[in-house]
Amino acid sequence: MGSNKRYDTIVIGAGVGGLTVAALLARKGRKILLLEKEGQVGGYVVSFKRGGYTFDATGTFLGGCQKGGEFYQILREIDAHEAIEFIPIHHIRNIYPGFELSLKQGGFSSYADGLMDLFPEEEKGLKDYLSLVKRIGDEIGSYSGMTLTKRILFPFYFRNLIRLHRTTHQTILDKLFRGGEIKMALHTLPATEPPSRLSFLFVAALINKALMEGVFYPRGGMGRVSHVMADSFLNSGGEISLNTKVDQILMKDGRPIGVLTEEGRVFEAPLVISDVNPNLLMKMLPLEFQRPLLKKTELFEYSLSSFILYIATDLDLKGMGLPYFTYLRALSDLEEEYRMMRRGEISKNPTLIVSIPTLLDTSLAPNGQHLLKVLVVAPYHYQERWGVTSPETYRRVKEEFFQKVLLQLESKLIPDLKDHLLFYEAATPLTLERYTGNEQGAMYGLASTPEQIGHLRPSHQTSIPGLFQVGHYTRPSHGIVGASLSGLFAARSILPQMQKP
Ligand SMILES: Cc1cc2nc3c(=O)[nH]c(=O)nc-3n(C[C@H](O)[C@H](O)[C@H](O)COP(=O)(O)OP(=O)(O)OC[C@H]3O[C@@H](n4cnc5c(N)ncnc54)[C@H](O)[C@@H]3O)c2cc1C
Repeated sequence: MGSNKRYDTIVIGAGVGGLTVAALLARKGRKILLLEKEGQVGGYVVSFKRGGYTFDATGTFLGGCQKGGEFYQILREIDAHEAIEFIPIHHIRNIYPGFELSLKQGGFSSYADGLMDLFPEEEKGLKDYLSLVKRIGDEIGSYSGMTLTKRILFPFYFRNLIRLHRTTHQTILDKLFRGGEIKMALHTLPATEPPSRLSFLFVAALINKALMEGVFYPRGGMGRVSHVMADSFLNSGGEISLNTKVDQILMKDGRPIGVLTEEGRVFEAPLVISDVNPNLLMKMLPLEFQRPLLKKTELFEYSLSSFILYIATDLDLKGMGLPYFTYLRALSDLEEEYRMMRRGEISKNPTLIVSIPTLLDTSLAPNGQHLLKVLVVAPYHYQERWGVTSPETYRRVKEEFFQKVLLQLESKLIPDLKDHLLFYEAATPLTLERYTGNEQGAMYGLASTPEQIGHLRPSHQTSIPGLFQVGHYTRPSHGIVGASLSGLFAARSILPQMQKP
């Protein structure tokens, strides 16, 4: 291996977690190589072009982008904060069976105000809910500034974190509210788990950290986020090799010494950081290192996947008064909908999450045209894995599901859409899996159940010295900001272990 190129660290996978850790380490003068199997960086956070249209492959918004916000701070640390403009998303509409909530102001507090107007009889419960969420937020904030006193008096300072670490959202909702409607509205969150499975600490952290100050859309499309991070990395001297799939992690004396790519190229480094699914990471290791990890990965529970529709239309969506974001729910039983999905089924009227990015950024489509993205949380095993047995069956299953979603969209939100389709394309859970290596197309990595959050999520240092992991299967949580924070935390723990340049 003597003639091969040597680096301080190799990062496998250029998702947001991988980009963050790579950019942070490169800024500290370390020699970093980032290997990505696709022809572009970003993983889930990419945009793609079709003619004059720029579509976002997956995500709709992100939080923490305001000055001082968590994501803003990370971008600042890699000097990318001025290279991107975040547009605040104010206009949202949540439509539920029998009621709806429409907001022109961003932020969770205005969402709570809207709920208070709709459900005045639940005022006390809502106040208690917000106060509990805030107390947990304060404890989480205090936890990151841990002192010796706090460590000694841990149960005193972190009472709620200890008390509620096994609690689901359902338990809190049932305790504080009487009506099912407000519970449903409060569970409208970026997570695929129903109230009975979603960790309440996760919900509280999400509201405090990502939703409180509102959510944002990056001008130019979601892929812009990954591009500015990659640019920062390259400007700091980092190297990216695209279309390079890592096949094996090479080991010596119990530590990684480099990687072998699918094409047979070898890159050397004493530290390897993985931003890929932990099961795939395990399979990259020699057999004797796989066995201890297998026990852990077998127990992981993934989040659900999704079906995504990309549409271009010449309908005047702005004139129709549609907001950027619409959540359209027809079923009131969240638990039953989830149980169906775990059985591989999807309800007749699935929940639709509709976004219209051209209302925020007109440069994404030609004048007078709009882009729509419709996201349906969906199981990987629907109709025997979306009819993957033959290309014709796959196309048929996909087209039938597309028509079903279109019909629902037309009847509930955008009449005549069918006659005004200029372009459409769809992605299934299999598409997500193929492009990003997320097994079963898991949208959010590990499901955020009480058993898989906080310190119960895999840590960045694996059981193998010199091998680290980042991304939405690891701490602290999922989402663009969660994955980016995993990169930040990993960089903080790795830097002291690396030799100074
Ligand atoms: C449909 C959908 C909607 C979403 N909406 C939002 C949203 O609105 N807001 C939000 O905050 N989050 C959203 N998320 C979640 C968010 O996008 C993810 O949690 C986050 O981007 C995951 O980042 P990651 O670092 O874990 O890497 P990933 O995005 O999983 O990327 C992993 C990378 O590793 C590469 N790779 C895999 N194997 C190899 C290999 N062997 N060699 C080299 N490279 C390899 C892949 O090609 C990929 O680029 C959404 C996700 C989905 C699917």
